[in-house]
Amino acid sequence: MAARPFVEGETVLLLDRAGNRRLVRLRAGGRLHGHQGYLEHDRLIGEDEGVVVRTSSRVAYVAVRPRLADYVLEMPRQSAIVYPKDVGMILVWADVYPGATVLESGLGSGALTLALLRAVGANGQVVVYESRGDFIPPALQNIHGFGEPPANLLIRERDIYEGIDETDLDRLVLDLPEPWRVVPHALGALRSGGIAAFYSPSIVQVQQTHEALEGSGGFGQIEVLEASYRPWQLKGRAVRPVQQMIAHTGFLTFARRLALGTSRATPESEGEAAAPPVL
Ligand code: SAH
Repeated sequence: MAARPFVEGETVLLLDRAGNRRLVRLRAGGRLHGHQGYLEHDRLIGEDEGVVVRTSSRVAYVAVRPRLADYVLEMPRQSAIVYPKDVGMILVWADVYPGATVLESGLGSGALTLALLRAVGANGQVVVYESRGDFIPPALQNIHGFGEPPANLLIRERDIYEGIDETDLDRLVLDLPEPWRVVPHALGALRSGGIAAFYSPSIVQVQQTHEALEGSGGFGQIEVLEASYRPWQLKGRAVRPVQQMIAHTGFLTFARRLALGTSRATPESEGEAAAPPVL
């Protein structure tokens, strides 16, 4: 694909040699101010990605389109976000594929939603349940700030603990304080073979979710893991891991909806299915 010059309205990432990063939404006539002088947006509009520009104080910045990982770390937050290392793991371990129908909850700042939208592509669908109506507009602003407004995103102001309307879901991705409360609803909402992924900062949440999954009789291939990310610095002979790192974000739990007990369970039949095979 040929290089696409920057156009007005798109978001650009500026990087300086010291490792400082700024996101800027390009606007004709706009000016970015900082302690390193100012930069006119018009100097970027029409330029190719990778261009080096200097501020009024002669500080050089490289301008590129942000990767999804750059963008989510810089965008405004109204909640904790799922960090890129965990997003990557979720996409691969939950096997989120082009064309999949995914239900996510909650929306938060929209970091995980952005990644899910990209993974399912134009033929997939992402439905998000978010209980806080006031969180929805800023998260949508974050999502729209990354690119074209996606046509295949449906955000519903709903409490997922009360139930899930959708059925035949391919994937269910949860970042919630009490995810175990969703497990009974997940039984009816996921298609057999569908995958549920849970992101939980505390191991106590993981344990309770795991118990709910095992006790439901409808899930197998249950896995719990943690993704480590240890960046390195390469400065002259100081070639070593960076001294400070984010030591913990969250635990990831994955489970596969089994075909047994798929029939929309009455409390009695759920009881019958509660003897899962050893998996
Ligand atoms: N994964 C998101 C962050 C989610 S933070 C990101 O990467 O940006 C958790 C979100 O779940 C919050 O927005 C909170 O309002 C929402 N939430 C909490 N309980 C909920 C419930 N029962 N139903 C729907 N959303 C809920």
